[in-house]
Amino acid sequence: LGPARAAEIRSLIRDVPDYPHPPVVFRDITPLLADGPALTDVVDAFAGLVDADGGVDVVAGMEARGFLLGAPLATRLGVGFVPLRKAGKLPPPVVREDYALEYGTASIELRHGTLAPGSRVLLVDDVLATGGTAQAAASLVERCGGHVVALAFLLELAGLGGRDRLAGRTVETLLRVE
Ligand code: AMP
Repeated sequence: LGPARAAEIRSLIRDVPDYPHPPVVFRDITPLLADGPALTDVVDAFAGLVDADGGVDVVAGMEARGFLLGAPLATRLGVGFVPLRKAGKLPPPVVREDYALEYGTASIELRHGTLAPGSRVLLVDDVLATGGTAQAAASLVERCGGHVVALAFLLELAGLGGRDRLAGRTVETLLRVE
């Protein structure tokens, strides 16, 4: 994305203060998803990053907005898509990863046997905040035999330290806010 197009796409992400509770500023990508040329440009930009990272065998997306960006990216790349789901949504057998949230814990699950051993995986989500979700997703993929080539996000909330938490991994973000 060039700077002008990046600014236009940024303007299609709505900042919602104090949602779902203070002091969170929720980044709502719904207007972007509804804009055909913007969605196409975002998917194309992700695809360009992957080419630079040397290719992938499968795209894995985090529930739920990682599905909305990851599945079109997978078709664009001509590879499959693997959903990383919140606990209790996938029928067994599943492999589960628990991780800490600011308050409490959460879990994500991947269908056992979905990833071919050694498959090169691109992880996709809409927002990189603290990086906890992405770190758990990467661990889960690796426990299931995948190799995480890169993690790609539409928007990086740079003040929350996600990139540091993912140190040593390839992290790609199309847009960044402080
Ligand atoms: P984290 O684990 O803190 O990096 O949070 C990332 C996950 O939570 C992603 O799946 C995001 O979709 C979601 N998320 C975190 N913060 C926000 C935010 N401010 N606006 C929208 N989604 C967010």
